[in-house]
Amino acid sequence: MEEKVYGVRCKACGKESYPAHAICPGCGGDDFEQFEIAGEGKVLTYTDVYALPLDYVQRYLRLAIVEFDSGVRATGQLLDDDPKIGKRVKTIIGIVRQRGDLKVHGLQFVPV
Ligand SMILES: [Zn+2]
Repeated sequence: MEEKVYGVRCKACGKESYPAHAICPGCGGDDFEQFEIAGEGKVLTYTDVYALPLDYVQRYLRLAIVEFDSGVRATGQLLDDDPKIGKRVKTIIGIVRQRGDLKVHGLQFVPV
């Protein structure tokens, strides 16, 4: 099964957001269409989060904000032992969280 992650695009001004907002941060509109988040971009910033809920399997989570070539920015898990600001990454969809049989898919970034 192929999982996909979608952002939303404001029908009024075209601003793209991920995760989706209820109200467009660009123009205040509330009419959106979905688009698939995929492709390549560059790391704007990243951080390691150690304070995780107990049901996380991993010890910490490395999160990054990536700016895609389309200009949209998205937050996801960065799978890179040598992260750098500005480094090129591509999007994959992986299991970001697991609780028993429940697997939560989300955005992950890997070096290009
Ligand atoms: Zn808008």
